[in-house]
Amino acid sequence: TGTLMKGKRGLVMGVANDRSIAWGIANAVAAQGAELAFTYQGEALGKRVRPLAERVGSSLVLSCDVSDDAAIDETFARIEEEWGTLDFLVHAIGWADKQYLRGRYVDTPREAFLTALDISCYSFTAVARRAARLMPNGGSMLTLTYLGAEKVMPHYNVMGVAKAALEASVRYMAADLGRDGIRVNGISAGPIMTLAANGIGDFRYILKWNQYNAPMERNVALEEVGGAGLYMLSDLSGGVTGEIHHVDCGYNIVGMKNPTAPDI
Ligand code: NAD
Repeated sequence: TGTLMKGKRGLVMGVANDRSIAWGIANAVAAQGAELAFTYQGEALGKRVRPLAERVGSSLVLSCDVSDDAAIDETFARIEEEWGTLDFLVHAIGWADKQYLRGRYVDTPREAFLTALDISCYSFTAVARRAARLMPNGGSMLTLTYLGAEKVMPHYNVMGVAKAALEASVRYMAADLGRDGIRVNGISAGPIMTLAANGIGDFRYILKWNQYNAPMERNVALEEVGGAGLYMLSDLSGGVTGEIHHVDCGYNIVGMKNPTAPDI
């Protein structure tokens, strides 16, 4: 524990359970003295998120489905009421119909495409705009992305397209908000077994492949993504904006299969 985040208040969106990347980041910033609020999607998850929030001393736990502008407005009205201002925002939300996270991207129907882009990309823009209003003294915003935005990954399909749009939106919002002292960044995490990841076809194979072929010959730990999140949300990264930071045991730099890796 330390004091890097002392006096800072942040909203964490996207905790579903204790394996969520949002939870890994929340833990890391809370250990450094941050005060947190959480949002969850639907009451079933609310039951899981409230006790987790309590563990990091938070009782500001709100329901917010990011496909609903009125719900987002209500969330930020509550934050403004309770806190007045905000120092950081974590957006760790993504969704696509898992029926289309297998097979061919080219077969994605319009509805599935629009929903995936709405939840996984536009929602960050929607919440960032409202959060920025509460950041008169500057702030830091963070989203989560994946290598499937840059390169074709099996089964990632429409999520890869959504993540590419999300990464572009990080750069555009960094440009929009930089003059207000608000930084906008993304962490491109290596594969981690979470609820969302479970929906991706052959995810266990992807985990193994990354483990064998990443320079560090292992998968990334939730705590390591948490540590990178702490860096991005704290003043340690004060000069960093518009950046997509890979936290993947180096997998993204590799151009070919590790010749000494065992067969999967
Ligand atoms: P997770 O299932 O724990 O978190 C996903 C969250 O998105 C859940 O809390 C879910 O409730 C929320 N969500 C989905 N639709 C929503 C909606 N309409 N309104 C509000 N919330 C909604 O899984 P995770 O892996 O921690 O995912 C967090 C982020 O990290 C996602 O953007 C994901 O794409 C990204 N990511 C995950 C991995 C991985 O391997 N797990 C790798 C890179 C990036």
